[in-house]
This record gives sequence, structure tokens and C-alpha cells, in this order.
Amino acid sequence: MGGTAYLVYGNIDPVLLEKREIKPTFLQKIFGKKNFIQPKEMKVDDNRTIIDINQPELNNLVDLFQGFIKKTLPKYNSATQQFIEYLDIKIMSIFIRGERFKDKTEWYIQFGFSGCAGMAEVSAELGSHWVNKWIAIEKNNLLNIFAKNGFQMFDNQNSNDESYFIPFEKYGYAKIQNTEIMDEEYEGSKYFEFDQSCLEGLDENDYSKMKNLDKNYKKYYDSKKCCCQICNPEFVPLKI
Ligand SMILES: [Zn+2]
Repeated sequence: MGGTAYLVYGNIDPVLLEKREIKPTFLQKIFGKKNFIQPKEMKVDDNRTIIDINQPELNNLVDLFQGFIKKTLPKYNSATQQFIEYLDIKIMSIFIRGERFKDKTEWYIQFGFSGCAGMAEVSAELGSHWVNKWIAIEKNNLLNIFAKNGFQMFDNQNSNDESYFIPFEKYGYAKIQNTEIMDEEYEGSKYFEFDQSCLEGLDENDYSKMKNLDKNYKKYYDSKKCCCQICNPEFVPLKI
């Protein structure tokens, strides 16, 4: 599994729970057929049922998110460029989900980022971090789009984002580890987590560089400040 999901909580228009007619697909149009959708329910256990609502219009938000990045960062640094390539492989999904418990149902829009079978977990987390920024910066516009899709976002979101990223020239974005890795046998960086896809193919020589990297850049680990290109546009990706 892996990957991350950024959740935005709110209420839904009850009409989304009904069987609804939506815009026909290209083929349905040719054959004069109608297109209907309805929520899918899945019982997880006696106390919890998941309700997925496919709202095809929400897929437009994927392009809008990429447009936001382009607009905010007219010139990508090398780490951002790698993240954009990750986004280009269509790893982002957006849908409305409800979790029904005995006494309440919680509704949210889920912005999901695939970890690509464990190869791109850091990129997936950066995706969530940037959705958080996007919603903060373009809140009114997004509230409108959500509302048009039957979703009213709550004003108070628990959006504490405690992930910090550092761009590296060769390995793309690194995420600052929550705690130092104490295992002496561990060959990677003790302070930074990289996408596995960037580490594949490293030889021993490269791994020994990780020790230098930790020595040279510990101050970024200690600072717990995000230096991604949106949080800190002036930051130049670090060399190894
Ligand atoms: Zn950041």
C-alpha cells in the first residue's frame, strides 16, 4: 500500500447519497445511453462502514493542483522537477469518502498520493504537504469548487503539518526524519529520508557519502524547518 492521503473534512449535500445521473461518457453519448453513479458502501467491521462517492468532476482538481504549482513556482529547482515527474505519472486521486460509525458519519475529500509500491514515499508526503499549502493559499477558490461538488468544507481543519523537506540536487526532496535513526548498521542517512527510487542503484561509495551528508547537513535536521521550494523559494538544492 503506502502513499499518503491528505484529508479535508466537511459535510456533504445529501443528494450525493442518491443514485444520480451524470454526464455520459463519450461512448454512452454515441449510443444514446445515460450514465448513473451511486455511492459504494463497504462494511469494515461492526462499528465502521466506508462510503465512497465518486464525483468525476473532482478529477479536474488534479490539473488545478499542478497549475497551482506552476503558478507559484515559475522556475522549478532540480528537486521540484523530480517531484513534477512523479506527479506526471498520474499518481494523484481525489474522491469523497465517508466513515460511518454507530453515532456519526465523518465526511472528507481525500487527496491521495501513491507511494509507487514503496519507491516514492517521500514524494507522496511532499504531495500532501503541498495540498496543505494549496488549500491555505487558494482557499476561497477551492471552497467554491468543493461546494459545487456537494461538499462544504469545515472552517476548522486539523491541518497541523509537521513534515519538513530539504531539496537535494541529486536525490530530489528528502524528508527530515522525525527522530534520528539510532541503528548503527543502518547505511542510509540518519537524519533524512529519500525516495527509495533515488537510492536504488547506489553503490558502497555512495552509501559512504551518506555519512558525510549527515555530518555536513545535520543543522537542517536540527532546525526542523521546511526548505521545500514553496516554503523557501530561495533555498538552493544541496549538493552531496
Ligand atoms: Zn515546505
